[in-house]
Amino acid sequence: MLTLAEICQATGGRLVAGQPSLKIDTFHFDTRMLSSQSMFIALTGGARDGHDFLQTAKENGAIAALISDITQIPQQEGMAYVVVEDTAMGFANIAKFYRSKLQIPIIAVTGSNGKTTTKDMIAHILESKKKTFKTYKNYNNHLGVPLSLLQIGPDHEIAVLEMGMNHAGEIDFLASIAKPDISVIVNVTDAHIEYLGSKENIAKAKGELLPHTSPNGFAILNGDNPYVVNLRDLYPGKAYFFRTGESADIYASEIQTTDRGTLYKVHIGKSSFTCTIPMFGLHNVSNTLPGIFIANQLGYNSEEIANSLTTLTISPMRFELVKHSGQTVMINDAYNASPTSMKSSITTFSGILPHLRKVLVLGDMFELGEQSIDFHRGVGEHINTLSNSFQMVVTVGDHSRYISELVGVPARHFEKKEQAAEFLQQFLTPEYALLFKGSRGMKLEEIVSSLTN
Ligand code: ATP
Ligand code: MG
Repeated sequence: MLTLAEICQATGGRLVAGQPSLKIDTFHFDTRMLSSQSMFIALTGGARDGHDFLQTAKENGAIAALISDITQIPQQEGMAYVVVEDTAMGFANIAKFYRSKLQIPIIAVTGSNGKTTTKDMIAHILESKKKTFKTYKNYNNHLGVPLSLLQIGPDHEIAVLEMGMNHAGEIDFLASIAKPDISVIVNVTDAHIEYLGSKENIAKAKGELLPHTSPNGFAILNGDNPYVVNLRDLYPGKAYFFRTGESADIYASEIQTTDRGTLYKVHIGKSSFTCTIPMFGLHNVSNTLPGIFIANQLGYNSEEIANSLTTLTISPMRFELVKHSGQTVMINDAYNASPTSMKSSITTFSGILPHLRKVLVLGDMFELGEQSIDFHRGVGEHINTLSNSFQMVVTVGDHSRYISELVGVPARHFEKKEQAAEFLQQFLTPEYALLFKGSRGMKLEEIVSSLTN
């Protein structure tokens, strides 16, 4: 894949042992992921110094390591070393160099919520005809994006990468490495507002993707989100918009929910076709549109696209339908929560399964800074606009108490998950459906498993 000479060229590093012609085919900073032709990246600045693992890396098959401290090379000889000032930066530079040699289209996906879902949907549609690489799980940061790029193999025909951020400048960095041909901005909401201060700043930070996108490619942007629409001018190439309900370059209409999923009509230009997805939520309909549009641009026909959508799978804990021994319907949406995603999830829940009595189980939303209490109250107000939909609201944690306090339906707050689980036992009958949502740190799925065991 890359020779040590190329790695030195890419990083400006110095080879202290080994042959410049030595070929490396995989790279990793986790010694457990190394194989026989691999280079170990000794990261520093984390809980442990990667240099402490050089011996383990060699035992696990690494033939070379990227290091920043020559004094930590173990006594026993054996590996080749490339020495750089900063190994994380060196790793990014290797990925950047590798990307410049790749001939395949790269699709980048960013946004506040729904990146992983949208990335997985794009890849799912494309892989029906092309060997498609996609970011593994949620590897979307300054280490995950370089790692993903370096995992693209010689037989991949297209790649879809997720890019995440908490701070301004991060997407700029990731996009400068990945140099996408096609860019997708899913939305701009208040997730991570603690670090960025305002939605305008969040939008600007997502928009950093566009100047790095090839002007010969295209951008596909969420036309339902005014903050995203405003980013259009940052891109010199062709930008398209996707929308739900309203007309756009691609849009969905006649959206209907059934017990088994969602049915809707997709319009691209003058043509339209019917799609069904085995999942719920307007946001998920919206999340399918970039993938449908990209596939259409790449020559997939409507039948191929509609067929692949029927076999979409939802990642665990993303509005995942869990049944309690054929009885209570539980929807596990506990992967994460921001004010926007929580409200949208609650709205979705209110619109489905009309024959059941519904209970909301909501945990704290984190990273909301000084406005945290207001954001939690906002969720309570939102529930009040839908109050006929819910039988009970149960909140768990700390700030989520402000949701319970505000709602006009029966509500209980618990500080501990065990207490909430105990209380929820009474709803484990076939008449009820329970929705679980909270920030990742709340781990509300633990309540789901305690109720299903
Ligand atoms: P992360 O920042 O953790 O990588 P992400 O952006 O990849 O998150 P997903 O993991 O795809 O997002 O989805 C997380 C949650 O966001 C979902 O469970 C859902 O509640 C909500 N969500 C998904 N798509 C959208 C959307 N288009 N708009 C608003 N909320 C959404
Ligand atoms: Mg993600």
